Amino acid sequence: MKRVITCISCPKGCRLEIEADGKAFVSVSGNKCPRGAEYARRETEAPLRVLTTCVLTRGLDIKMLPVRTSGPIPLERLAEAAAAVRRLTVTTPVKAGAVVAADLLGLGVDLVACRRAGKP
Ligand code: SF4
Repeated sequence: MKRVITCISCPKGCRLEIEADGKAFVSVSGNKCPRGAEYARRETEAPLRVLTTCVLTRGLDIKMLPVRTSGPIPLERLAEAAAAVRRLTVTTPVKAGAVVAADLLGLGVDLVACRRAGKP
């Protein structure tokens, strides 16, 4: 199976043509450096994404707190992680960068606030 993606490892944005056998990486063309090959392999075999979403707050000056994971997580766990975040409520003031939930789903990344939220 062949598919085309854009490498996001640097601003050049090379067009990568990936040949795969199911989830098994076979080859890539179009990459101008080895990082593109590694990106193509990872996107084929174990794609990762940073989750960015919002958490409900209660008793604070904003209703929804923008949050993101401190690092990428497996794409296949993204929906599960988003569902877990929807069950959270932040009730105490936080600074930008504060950990809202540690070790989200045991994935080894924290959920961190993207901005402050304070008392109304
Ligand atoms: S393949 Fe290399 S040069 Fe091309 S976008 Fe990816 S990192 Fe940049």
